[in-house]
Amino acid sequence: TETLHIVGGGMAGSEAAWQAAEAGVPVVIHEMRPKVETFAHRTGNLAEMVCSNSFRSDDHEQNAVGLLHWEMRHAGGLVMREAAAHRLPAGGALAVDRDPFSQSVTDALRAHPNVSISGEEITALPEDGRWIIATGPLTSDALGRAIAAETGAEALAFFDAIAPIVYAESIDMDVAWLQSRYDKGETEEERKAYINCPMTKPEYEAFIDALLAADKAEFHEGETAGYFDGCLPIEVMAERGRETLRHGPMKPIGLTNSHKPEEKAYAVVQLRRDNALGTLYNIVGFQTKMKYGAQTEVFRMIPGLQNASFARLGGIHRNTFLNSPTLLDNQMRLRSKPHIRFAGQITGVEGYVESCAMGLAAGRMAAAEILGRTLPPIPQDTAHGALIHHITGGAEARTFQPMNVNFGLFRPVDGLKGGRRGRKDRYKAYTDRAKQDWSAWVASQEVPA
Ligand code: FAD
Repeated sequence: TETLHIVGGGMAGSEAAWQAAEAGVPVVIHEMRPKVETFAHRTGNLAEMVCSNSFRSDDHEQNAVGLLHWEMRHAGGLVMREAAAHRLPAGGALAVDRDPFSQSVTDALRAHPNVSISGEEITALPEDGRWIIATGPLTSDALGRAIAAETGAEALAFFDAIAPIVYAESIDMDVAWLQSRYDKGETEEERKAYINCPMTKPEYEAFIDALLAADKAEFHEGETAGYFDGCLPIEVMAERGRETLRHGPMKPIGLTNSHKPEEKAYAVVQLRRDNALGTLYNIVGFQTKMKYGAQTEVFRMIPGLQNASFARLGGIHRNTFLNSPTLLDNQMRLRSKPHIRFAGQITGVEGYVESCAMGLAAGRMAAAEILGRTLPPIPQDTAHGALIHHITGGAEARTFQPMNVNFGLFRPVDGLKGGRRGRKDRYKAYTDRAKQDWSAWVASQEVPA
């Protein structure tokens, strides 16, 4: 049987290796640590958690991350198995004792008869063989350069600049309105591209004060090399002058408040539709280093967003990631070199759990290919499927930024109440549907003994 090579033994690479090895495929993991270090990893272990020790919510009925946990467990996931074995009490969250956790992922892979681990940095894109590249947000410089040479520099980012994303249903449309800047007779569909939130002068001044006063996170040492002006945090823009934002992302020109056409807004916050379903909107230009608690407080000061719920909050980090919507096919293969798959955070998902899930999917896809089996497509209405669909097709390529799993990525279930009140039933319906589809997908690959 052909060998599967996996570059990077992090969250995604470890899970991909396990899935392929369990399917009967020989796997080599190429992991550069501890020989070559990153600014965030501390050990030479596989699946090291670089920051928080939490895999977030374990609620698989009302939370999309918890649903990913459930799906991975149901597919015999190694990371979830070891997380359960090293679980720490943390309410509804799945927190783990990080060192024994990554040690036992490492031990399990070392002990697997189909896995071998090679301690080296891969610095070029392989010309042949079958590969999964899962080198994560801190992909080594040499490999980053090799990937950029293949994809074109504009299709590989080295920083994310994440603007907060709001659930459309939580925006108060009695205050906000739909309109693109300088519209000249838009169609109904075009109008849905932007939602606008107006501010008076006192509201703007109070907002700037809150921005300047908010708690901010620091960059890690070694993280800011190559940090550039194009993605300045909004609070840094505000520090450069109280009027800067009003002439930048919050400029009011070319927009007329449909609720109060005679009143000129002093500033306008624009939200842009973030997915084809129209369930998510991002606040344009609002990348920020404010801490999460501060962000919710400050952003709810924006008229129309007073009750906003956030699918994800903003951030700016060192993060190597592909423009997956243009580069990857729905099997996560590089279109220009289909013997290479990508998995994990480098595909434009965000978080340990999401990265691990993309490893699980890529590992199964690669294994099926090597074994000459047909793998049915991962159902779109599962958490894995919703994420893969988003990064390889659903997301807008031009403004693509890393994404957490969330219910805004799921197709609606027919006949359910919209809005905030129907949310609990809706989430339960999404997770029920996902579990059914995922179980059928996993069962379809079980080879009779
Ligand atoms: P990683 O887990 O980073 O694995 C990639 C592996 O590839 C590493 O072991 C690396 O050594 C190796 N590698 C890189 N280049 C090469 C090469 N050329 N050859 C061989 N090996 C190579 N997510 C959360 O959910 N919670 C958090 O608290 C959190 N905090 C983060 C903090 C920081 C500083 C960073 C950078 C990210 C954080 N993330 C967090 C985001 C992300 O989900 C994790 O980084 C996650 O580990 C990504 O999984 P991965 O498998 O894609 O990459």
